[in-house]
Amino acid sequence: MIQFVNLKAQYLTIKDEIDQAIQTAIDEVSFVGGKYAEIFEEEFASFIGAKHCIACANGTDSLEILLQAMGVGAGDEVLVPALTWISTAEAVSSLGAVPVFVDIDPDFYTIDLNKITEKITKRTKVIIPVHLYGQPVDMPKLMKIAQDHNILVLEDCAQAHGAEYEGQKIGSFGDCASFSFYPGKNLGAYGDAGGMVTNNDEIAQIARRIANHGQEGRHNHVSEGRNSRMDGIQAAILGVKLKYLNKWTESRINNGKLYSKLLESNENVNCPKILPNGKHVFHLFVIRTNQRDLILEFMKEKGVECSIHYPVALPFLTCYQSKGAIPADFPVANRIQNEILSLPMYAELTEEEIIYITSTLNSYEY
Ligand SMILES: *Cc1c(COP(=O)(O)O)cnc(C)c1O
Repeated sequence: MIQFVNLKAQYLTIKDEIDQAIQTAIDEVSFVGGKYAEIFEEEFASFIGAKHCIACANGTDSLEILLQAMGVGAGDEVLVPALTWISTAEAVSSLGAVPVFVDIDPDFYTIDLNKITEKITKRTKVIIPVHLYGQPVDMPKLMKIAQDHNILVLEDCAQAHGAEYEGQKIGSFGDCASFSFYPGKNLGAYGDAGGMVTNNDEIAQIARRIANHGQEGRHNHVSEGRNSRMDGIQAAILGVKLKYLNKWTESRINNGKLYSKLLESNENVNCPKILPNGKHVFHLFVIRTNQRDLILEFMKEKGVECSIHYPVALPFLTCYQSKGAIPADFPVANRIQNEILSLPMYAELTEEEIIYITSTLNSYEY
């Protein structure tokens, strides 16, 4: 059986360092926030090339707190791509604001930059581009649209640690950026964790305050906030893993190249296209094909665990049905949701495994 993601395989390659980091955090009773969270904040900000990183409890909180720090509230509208994990929209609704969906690009599956302007109204406050599957959005172009309309930009980088556009790391283009360190992400903790990244001193200050009960200094609650902090043990683990991220990213990219090469002659399979000038970090390797559901079953029978990200685009989820979206409103997302299939992808995937997966896929009879 080839698993979709194998977190154990990665752990075994760095077991001693991880075990020691966990033990040290416990010995030092560094349980919530503290020294290891502070060290990680500094190292991660420098990795992205941004001024601030604020560690928090998970990627969903990170989105929500950053929106709040940018002043998003009841009645505001926030543009969100039609295809993404629900957190991107959930964070907007949880502040009483309204997620407004934008269809996706048919080649790169990220927010369609040509369909943003038509969705902008007087109430539009923020755009959230999602670097989906590890593919960067053309950020200079998106920033231009946002600036022309006086709208702020929050990058959702949960799937794209280390991705770049024109040699610059994503997460450093927008007004601020949200990261998730959920275990299965390209940089993952051993539990929930998240990070808020920004070059803007004011956003950084407010976000840090909100994530720690509105405090600016102990017992000085200048506003009400919430509890969203990173565990010390998770921070210590992330500190170890960050050192390996570039190496793991290279492996993911090489795995992606091998997949594409071995699937090249398969007329029934569309491999991911890479945005010109972009560095795609392959959080997921997502192909498109007809008979997707039959192939998913076929692969499972042959011992290959595949997955779908995501089988229902956000506008068509039950929880957003009250918005009344019809397929014609989001033609690309509507078509693609039935064709996408995520093949196993992680740094430790071997060449033999990729050969087995692709030859199995190539043996499927349409
Ligand atoms: C994983 C993910 C999130 C949320 O992160 P959590 O840490 O699971 O809360 C947000 N947006 C996208 C695109 C994601 O993939």
